[in-house]
Amino acid sequence: MAEVLVYVDHVDGAVRKPTLELLTLARRIGEPVAVALGGGAADTAATLAEHGATRVLTHDASEYGEYLVVPKVDALQAAVTAVSPAAVLVPSSAEGKEIAARLALRIGSGVITDAVDLEAGETGPVATQSVFAASFTTTSRVSKGTPVITVKPNSAAVEAAPAAGAVEALNVTFSEKARGTKVTGRTVREATGRPELTEAAIVVSGGRGVNGAENFAIIEALADSLGAAVGASRAAVDAGWYPHTNQVGQTGKSVSPQLYIANGISGAIQHRAGMQTSKTIVAVNKDAEAPIFDLVDYGVVGDLFEVVPQLTEEINTRKG
Ligand SMILES: Cc1cc2nc3c(=O)[nH]c(=O)nc-3n(C[C@H](O)[C@H](O)[C@H](O)COP(=O)(O)OP(=O)(O)OC[C@H]3O[C@@H](n4cnc5c(N)ncnc54)[C@H](O)[C@@H]3O)c2cc1C
Repeated sequence: MAEVLVYVDHVDGAVRKPTLELLTLARRIGEPVAVALGGGAADTAATLAEHGATRVLTHDASEYGEYLVVPKVDALQAAVTAVSPAAVLVPSSAEGKEIAARLALRIGSGVITDAVDLEAGETGPVATQSVFAASFTTTSRVSKGTPVITVKPNSAAVEAAPAAGAVEALNVTFSEKARGTKVTGRTVREATGRPELTEAAIVVSGGRGVNGAENFAIIEALADSLGAAVGASRAAVDAGWYPHTNQVGQTGKSVSPQLYIANGISGAIQHRAGMQTSKTIVAVNKDAEAPIFDLVDYGVVGDLFEVVPQLTEEINTRKG
């Protein structure tokens, strides 16, 4: 059976959820072979094996932390040469997409970014994408070379499928360009205790209807009752009520959670562009004519200041 390379996103050996989702999708196409780089790479093996990696290719060097993406592209290219895979799957983060594009260029292949689903096809993997502000769903296939495909978080359920996960050292020689862009400083983002917005299974968002920074406490309380991340519309962000890093939409982050709850958000096309592929969408809005109601699975016409606290209380009671 053909092998499929999966680029591992991990923090000091702790594998992030989108990589486990990639392993589920990779199994539809062939046998997953994971590529883990940097400090703690070998520590990823047990988790990767539990989720279907037949082999785990590892390499550690200070270059992965000290420079931007090129050392990682060098390593992935070495893995492609060593394995001759049927496809290369990379998580759809900003860094993942840059790695994928550079790799595809190097190996003379086509690249597909932001896939939301992946199936085996007769002549190679077929990727589903949601395009033009999620107004169209397309399917596409790379027609030249080894397909390089980035997949959005939450595109597949994580499934355990124990496999050998044999750890093997990957031979990597860094290219001249590897040390071209050095990381000169890092600032740790303040931890909120909430999941990362783009990876969260549930996102609770607030818009202009929240009417003030202090009122976002209501949105955060609902998010915390569900273990969710907090998102915001651009109107709320531009008003200074919530950080820019939490903006969802065309010029913000793109999310695709199992559940998206929009509170006091009208549903402008630019907002929809960042959340329309969510599996279940719920909106709370006092205007029954708000466009957000055109795309919801469940809608509550009501004042968020009444509805949201009640919802939070009910969830906390049921959990208790
Ligand atoms: C180039 C460009 C890029 C953009 N990118 C983005 C983007 O990335 N993300 C984004 O979000 N927007 C983006 N926008 C802005 C977008 O067009 C909208 O202006 C914005 O999404 C509106 O935010 P909103 O829904 O919070 O506010 P509004 O459109 O003002 O809607 C507020 C909603 O809250 C409801 N409401 C008010 N009070 C309550 C209450 N007490 N209880 C319940 N409901 C209440 C109202 O009925 C209304 O529907 C972009 C615009 C442009 C031109």
